[in-house]
Amino acid sequence: VLLLTWAAYGEADYVLYKDATKPVEDRVRDLLARMTLAEKIGQMTQIERLVASPQVLKDNFIGSLLSGGGSVPRKQATAAEWMSMINDFQKACLSTRLGIPMIYGIDAVHGHNNVYGATIFPHNVALGATRDPNLVKRIGAATALEVRATGIQYAFAPCIAVCRDPRWGRCYESYSEDHRIVQAMTELIPGLQGDVPSNFTSGMPYVAGKNKVAACAKHFVGDGGTQNGINENNTIINRQGLMHTHMPAYLNALQKGVSTVMISYSSWNGIKMHANHELITRFLKERLNFKGFTISDWEGIDRITTPAGSNYSYSVQASVLAGIDMIMVPNNYQSFISILTSHVNSGIIPTSRIDDAVTRILRVKFTMGLFENPMPDSSLVDQLGKQEHRELAREAVRKSLVLLKNVERNGKPVLPLSKKAPKILVAGSHADNLGYQCGGWTIEWQGDTGRITVGTTILDAVKAAVDPATTVVYAENPDAEFVRNGGFSYAIVVVGEHPYTETKGDSTNLTIPDPGPSTVQAVCGVAPCATVLISGRPVVLQPFLGSIDALVAAWLPGTEGQGVTDVLFGDYNFTGKLPRTWFKSVDQLPMNYGDAHYDPLFPLGFGLTY
Ligand code: BGC
Repeated sequence: VLLLTWAAYGEADYVLYKDATKPVEDRVRDLLARMTLAEKIGQMTQIERLVASPQVLKDNFIGSLLSGGGSVPRKQATAAEWMSMINDFQKACLSTRLGIPMIYGIDAVHGHNNVYGATIFPHNVALGATRDPNLVKRIGAATALEVRATGIQYAFAPCIAVCRDPRWGRCYESYSEDHRIVQAMTELIPGLQGDVPSNFTSGMPYVAGKNKVAACAKHFVGDGGTQNGINENNTIINRQGLMHTHMPAYLNALQKGVSTVMISYSSWNGIKMHANHELITRFLKERLNFKGFTISDWEGIDRITTPAGSNYSYSVQASVLAGIDMIMVPNNYQSFISILTSHVNSGIIPTSRIDDAVTRILRVKFTMGLFENPMPDSSLVDQLGKQEHRELAREAVRKSLVLLKNVERNGKPVLPLSKKAPKILVAGSHADNLGYQCGGWTIEWQGDTGRITVGTTILDAVKAAVDPATTVVYAENPDAEFVRNGGFSYAIVVVGEHPYTETKGDSTNLTIPDPGPSTVQAVCGVAPCATVLISGRPVVLQPFLGSIDALVAAWLPGTEGQGVTDVLFGDYNFTGKLPRTWFKSVDQLPMNYGDAHYDPLFPLGFGLTY
């Protein structure tokens, strides 16, 4: 009798979706069937950590949190502090009726860049210059570990935009103007998520386990093709052009099991992507068989307009009906939840659409093992910023540098530089500025200036590289007189763009801000000099290119400045090739490889060696 009672008790207690031995699809179906509308809508809602609390998560059955831009618990929060924050949030979600774990997303777009002490890898444009997909994959694996070191399970990366106009403020988030290079660099996905098994069906989401994170291919689609390079603008291109240039990398991403796809702020031929049913549902989900979830961009649905202006009720309707599964609300979640609920109750949005969205979200959560391993793993904290990852970042910097010019002075090329020169000058606004070296999306959304995190500036790296007997003089903005009287064997000048992100980075002139150009002219007019350019894109060089002996495009290299000196001093040769066309003047833009009137200063693929 006792045995029978136990058996019966066990039966009654058995919950299929909690059984890890069951197939994911069965678990999803079982769980979905148990959910109320409020629980389903909660899964579709992603809110910003700043408006979240354990109580908010419980009361609204929230399915996902994010840290947007520079939203961090505290500027120098440690990995352990991040974990304990995530721990509290997750505990709240697990304490709900069905105990569905939340997934926490963050912009880990060049390493775990919101987090103090993380390894900051070069931005995508630099990785495009390496032409090394395996390197990018290894960066993905290191990034996944650093993200997990803070308890986070989801990275809003890779950006697979094909930037067609460097005036766009996000051009540095794009690997290249050439879709084939962008396609190759989708190797970040298996780096972040793990390699898909051999019998894998393209379009299924895949995350290998608790040392990996869900990836996000963004921004679907045409974000890099907006008119005049204006952020979030209209991409005017016919279907064939869209499919040829902007779509191919999504096919690669799907073959590699990308778990999520973020929708672009931009429009395609006047239609906001956030309301584009044809491309999101008919094409991505039905034709390409994408089975992970789509996510809106930050307040992306708010940008949908009607002829009468913007109307949030319409935004919710249009975006969910277009096929967006998770909405990055991210602040005013009450109004999103109540509007979506009333749209379902009134029949404007069919329950089947909600079920489809939730099925996809749960599929990702089950696939990645989130139900089995919902809590942060404290054994991973020392992955953050670890030496091996810094070595990898240094390798990436080395391989991303592009040598644009190297003329002879006194009978030999200026580069490589000697480590044994008696006295050298290091100059320029970017020589000793880690924030500038990292660019946007580092600690702050817009990036920042100075010692913003742990790392090595180019000046630090020069000092570490040269002979102990060499005197290194540093002057941020010396005049020609100073240089003339200094008795320097040579100078290294580091100048460039100041950090920017998204719309703030849109530029119509693409010049290097002052005093960069005058520093270059003051120094290079006098001493043999190597100029290192820190920028997210090609910039105007014409006025001073003539006075420069050697010019290196270093892009936005990140925290490991020693990658630059490894090559400047000749320990390694240059291997980087331009991932973009370097224009002569901005009135040529847009100008991309293959255009009829292609007349660049340096073409796509250009890069000298020693
Ligand atoms: C950007 C996305 C980013 C999101 C979350 C948006 O402004 O367009 O790329 O993932 O913010 O921070």
